[in-house]
Amino acid sequence: MPTEGHTGRKIIYDEDGKPCRSCNTLLDFKFATGKITSRTTITENTGSEADNVEKQELIPGSKSYYKVEPPDVVELGNSSWNLLHSITATYPSKPSEQKKAEMKQFLTIFSHIYPCSWCASDFQKFIEQNAPRVDSREDLGRWMCEAHNSVNEKLGKEKFDCNFWSKRWKDGWDQN
Ligand SMILES: Cc1cc2nc3c(=O)[nH]c(=O)nc-3n(C[C@H](O)[C@H](O)[C@H](O)COP(=O)(O)OP(=O)(O)OC[C@H]3O[C@@H](n4cnc5c(N)ncnc54)[C@H](O)[C@@H]3O)c2cc1C
Repeated sequence: MPTEGHTGRKIIYDEDGKPCRSCNTLLDFKFATGKITSRTTITENTGSEADNVEKQELIPGSKSYYKVEPPDVVELGNSSWNLLHSITATYPSKPSEQKKAEMKQFLTIFSHIYPCSWCASDFQKFIEQNAPRVDSREDLGRWMCEAHNSVNEKLGKEKFDCNFWSKRWKDGWDQN
């Protein structure tokens, strides 16, 4: 079992010793499961091309559902941030005590059940060190932006300017 993937990142394994789908990139997962080798030439869109080929094949007996692969760490992350920031965008500007408690509970539970285990444990640490600010939509929006930026920073990505969080996730860019 390789310790490093095609991208050079460490391969994460599940408790049962199998490579974890949602903790690795699709490329590294394919490498760890022997579908590609270190000699395989990767063109820029290999992953999505392979996906598209798989997506074109219908599930037996279905007219509408294709053989789409389970999400990797990138696709899972992207969908999850969509959900988290969208929840933030619809959080009340003046939440009741019950809403505040529910949001805190949700974030705690989310950080424990997130499918990428090493992402989850870092998110738990972030929450321990930076208690969710749930007193208003603006507070929560900025907190979520900072949480996302802590992952961006860890991955060597550019930080997002949190002054724009509500344009990106709530109002859109046409508003002043
Ligand atoms: C809780 C959590 C923890 C994660 N931990 C890891 C990890 O440890 N390792 C790992 O490899 N991946 C992790 N991920 C996935 C990672 O954050 C990305 O989602 C993934 O790499 C895909 O990145 P992307 O380039 O598609 O953009 P994403 O980071 O998914 O961002 C999507 C869009 O959100 C907007 N955006 C970006 N930053 C911010 C911000 N700070 N505030 C508001 N909007 C913003 C931008 O418009 C961007 O295009 C985690 C995801 C989540 C939800």
